[in-house]
Amino acid sequence: MAGIYIHYPYCKQKCHYCNFFSVATKKFKGQFTEALLKELALRKHELQSSITSIYFGGGTPSMLPVEEIRKITEHISILFQLQENAEITLEANPDDLNYSYLGQLKNTMINRLSIGIQSFNDNELKSINRVHDANAAYNSVKMAQDAGFDNLSIDLIYGIPNSTYQSWLHNLEMVHELRVAHLSAYTLTQESRTAYDILVKKGKLLPPDDEKALEQYAVLQNHLSILEMEQYEISNYSRRGMRANHNTNYWKGIPYLGLGPSAHSFDGNSRRWNKAALTDYIGILDGLPLEYEKEILTPENKWNERMMTGLRTQWGIDVENLARDFPENWVRDFEQLAHDFIEKGLMVQTQSVFCLSPKGKLFADGIASDFFRDEQKGDYKY
Ligand code: SF4
Repeated sequence: MAGIYIHYPYCKQKCHYCNFFSVATKKFKGQFTEALLKELALRKHELQSSITSIYFGGGTPSMLPVEEIRKITEHISILFQLQENAEITLEANPDDLNYSYLGQLKNTMINRLSIGIQSFNDNELKSINRVHDANAAYNSVKMAQDAGFDNLSIDLIYGIPNSTYQSWLHNLEMVHELRVAHLSAYTLTQESRTAYDILVKKGKLLPPDDEKALEQYAVLQNHLSILEMEQYEISNYSRRGMRANHNTNYWKGIPYLGLGPSAHSFDGNSRRWNKAALTDYIGILDGLPLEYEKEILTPENKWNERMMTGLRTQWGIDVENLARDFPENWVRDFEQLAHDFIEKGLMVQTQSVFCLSPKGKLFADGIASDFFRDEQKGDYKY
């Protein structure tokens, strides 16, 4: 079992909050797919297992012409053992979706769409510099469903400073009305060196509103039964049987190959990431080496990743599995600290599995980091 991630770095314009490697330029756009196909061929030996998911992320991969998407997926199916029922997702922005594009897309291997809606409110979309409006957001989902994409996810952002209780409720009503299969809901964050960060520091935009974010998160939790969705990861919700396989595999530690500038790969023992630079990336077409960095994971790194990803998910951390992979005293320490969190109402235990409680989910990253092990001291970081 393994996945393939493809990073398509082009966007029409840069959203204020975005810290992904993406560029609002056409530079090297015509050569990008060829460079990607070359990287695929160069790195095919890195994945031996069969491919259960492919994810086109970015950037805005819906800016790719359908013919190029087809070329890439066909190439993958020649080079790798692609499972017949593999989940193949394309991230899309609403303004790229129309009946003609979607109709052609339906005749490719793409069988899942993840649409970057972010909000169904024009003022909020404008404030974060999204290229589409609320109307386009709504229509894109409708058109995708009409074209036959039932396995459809949308992204929403909560905690946008000019959002209100009503506007967030309207977002959730849209999720309900459109009966989307999957929802990813993230809180707005002020990442350093983004336009949002600069504009907040200049006093031109308000910083993220944490209180509002918590309130909107709580509203979402309270609406899950109406939406007929379950929260299977801190930021991810789905209808029955519609979880995202690709991301679930990340959280379960399944290997994946990441292609394209800035893309990360994981083979179970190391992580590597391509340089986030277009010029260097396109250079592989001239025979230049692909530039990347690599980190061999120490037992402490693996432990910390297990804490970070496991506690974010519905399936939590199973101490029986921990005991198979890590020293006995680490597992004992884990259980001791987990029981402290249970007493505080932040975690729950079912047999050998520890999960965050609904209250604990509000502090997921902080709780996970309390379980981290420090390489030097060989003990808890705190
Ligand atoms: S569309 Fe996505 S990748 Fe592009 S700038 Fe906006 S958030 Fe970033």
